Amino acid sequence: MLIAAARLQDMISDIFRAAGCSEAESARIALYLVRSNLAGHDSHGVVRVPRYLDLLRTGDLFRDRELEIISRSDALAIVDGGYGFGQTVGPLAVELGIGMAEAAGTAIVALRHAGHLGRIGEWAEMAAAAGLASVHFVNVAGSMLVAPFGGVDRRFSTAPFAAGFPVPGEAPIVLDFATSAIAEGKVLVAANGGKPIPPDSLITPAGDLSGNPDTLYGPPTGGPRMAKNGAGAIRAFGEHKGSGLALFCELLAGALTGSGCAGPGERRFANGMLSIYMAPAHFGSPEAFSAETRGFIDFVKSARPATPGGEVLVPGEPEARIRAERSNNGIPLPDEVWASLSEAARAAGLSPDTYGSHPA
Ligand code: NAD
Repeated sequence: MLIAAARLQDMISDIFRAAGCSEAESARIALYLVRSNLAGHDSHGVVRVPRYLDLLRTGDLFRDRELEIISRSDALAIVDGGYGFGQTVGPLAVELGIGMAEAAGTAIVALRHAGHLGRIGEWAEMAAAAGLASVHFVNVAGSMLVAPFGGVDRRFSTAPFAAGFPVPGEAPIVLDFATSAIAEGKVLVAANGGKPIPPDSLITPAGDLSGNPDTLYGPPTGGPRMAKNGAGAIRAFGEHKGSGLALFCELLAGALTGSGCAGPGERRFANGMLSIYMAPAHFGSPEAFSAETRGFIDFVKSARPATPGGEVLVPGEPEARIRAERSNNGIPLPDEVWASLSEAARAAGLSPDTYGSHPA
């Protein structure tokens, strides 16, 4: 089905309100999840609602957390999200970094123990909207799925990396990806009979490349597909280079922030995020910065297309296009996602038809 972003946002917000989150937090969770769907990253959108509700129920995620400042100087802040919603502690950490970088020219914010921060590009976009360049290294303690280059055993999380760059008068450049060859959500979709994954996305314990989801989940048992039931791993993207970047995401976001790296044994789920913010105004003339940036982006995009009728896009452009299309036409939701949201709504005493019975 297609659903208008505003209706979907109301539905998600009402579900979290019923789960005891404040009105402001419920609205934020809804806003950022729907924005991920609008950007085309459905794996980090409203599909996450049942999982967040489960984490709330089990006491692994907390409502309306404030950011705890562990230490702070002009250019460095160490902050603890206290396992609060990433949609609450994430923007608080970014706001802090923006303010510090505007004052000092640059700032590093080390965020530990955040709930799921969702689509990391969101935080690079927030900084770019304030006119700042930023770089974000993220890891996921409690989720070890990815084998390092040259190895077969899981050692990394899907550890995303994001960077944002403001382009005066135009949309920012936003690079944002997981350092795994493929998002776990896509393996799950393939495991459930959806779009197959590339045949070299996974690696078996024997070192063979694989596109068979059973490599990650083990043979189907009839129950939910869980990565802990499989013996293989997702490969890091980009051979030794991507694997090296994943290692740095774990070190910077897990070890340096104090959030913890992916690792053996039972670990509590948390995102760590090491963010660096830079205010161009402190680096030199705004006019020169604007001219050089815009000129270079135009130059890059002017490269002759590799395929007839093709086009060179810069990072962030695909998301901007999907956002424009979905804002106009509505967000496509697979039946099973709508069914799980409807179930969550009914459990909260809400009527799903109120939100979804009309076309977008
Ligand atoms: P992806 O492979 O879709 O890559 C997206 C990036 O590539 C974007 O910056 C996009 O603009 C750019 N891009 C895509 N096509 C392009 C083209 N033709 N030309 C130029 N640039 C292009 O991303 P992914 O690895 O599937 O990650 C999906 C999302 O998952 C990300 O938003 C990431 O932050 C999120 N994630 C979050 C967590 C977490 O723990 N919170 C963990 C893993 C991933």
